[in-house]
Amino acid sequence: MSKLVLASKNTGKIAELERLLSNLAAEVKILGLADFPDLPEVVESGKSLSENAWLKARQISDFTKLPALADDSGLFIDALNGDPGIYSARYAGYSGSDAKVRDKLNIEKVLTQLAKTPVGSRGAQFKTVVAFYQPAAGGHKVEHQMLGELKGEITRQSHGDNGFGYDPIFLPEGFDKTLAQLSPAVKDEISHRGRALRAIAPVLLELL
Ligand code: IMP
Repeated sequence: MSKLVLASKNTGKIAELERLLSNLAAEVKILGLADFPDLPEVVESGKSLSENAWLKARQISDFTKLPALADDSGLFIDALNGDPGIYSARYAGYSGSDAKVRDKLNIEKVLTQLAKTPVGSRGAQFKTVVAFYQPAAGGHKVEHQMLGELKGEITRQSHGDNGFGYDPIFLPEGFDKTLAQLSPAVKDEISHRGRALRAIAPVLLELL
C-alpha cells in the first residue's frame, strides 16, 4: 500500500483533508505530522501561498522520504488590499498554541479593520494552493500544484461554531449562512481546499 504524508498539524485541516481524500483511503495510507514527532519545524518563509505550499511539501518529503501533500491557504479581503493573505494564521500577532484564542483574535482584528466598510464592499476570497511532492528514482522528483478559490463576503459579526479560522465571519457567495453555520459536508463541497484537493486527486491516484 502506498503512503502519503499530509503536511499539517492543524487538526481542523487534517480532518477536512482526510474526509476529502477518503475516496483514496482504500489504496493509500494517509499519515499526518503527528506520525513524525522528530520532524523539524517548517518555516513558512515564502512570499506566496504557492511558495509556502512547496516549501512544506518538499521539506516534509525530504525528511520522511515519502510523498507529501501540503496546502497553504489564506483569506484575501478586497477592502484591505488582500490582507491578511499569506499572513492569515498570524494576523493578530498571537504566538501561543491555543487555536481557538488565535482564531478569535484574528476575527476581532478583521472586524475592527472593516468596522467602517459597508455591506457591498466587504468582498473576500479564500484561496488554497495544494502542492504534491514525490521523490523518484535517480534523484528525480514529481511536483504538482493546484489552486482552489471560494468567493464571498465578510459579515459584521461571528455566526456559527463549525469549522475553524475565519469561518464564522465568511459568507460564501450564494449562501445566507457563514461557513461556520454550514455542515462539514457542505463546506467540503464548496470550499477552496475542497476544490484544490478534488483537482489534485486524479494526479494522486495516478502517481501513488
Ligand atoms: P494555512 O497556512 O493553510 O494553515 O492557513 C492559514 C490561515 O488561514 C489559517 O490559520 C486560518 O486562519 C485561515 N484559513 C485557512 N483555511 C481556512 C478555512 O477553510 N476557513 C477559515 N479560515 C481558514
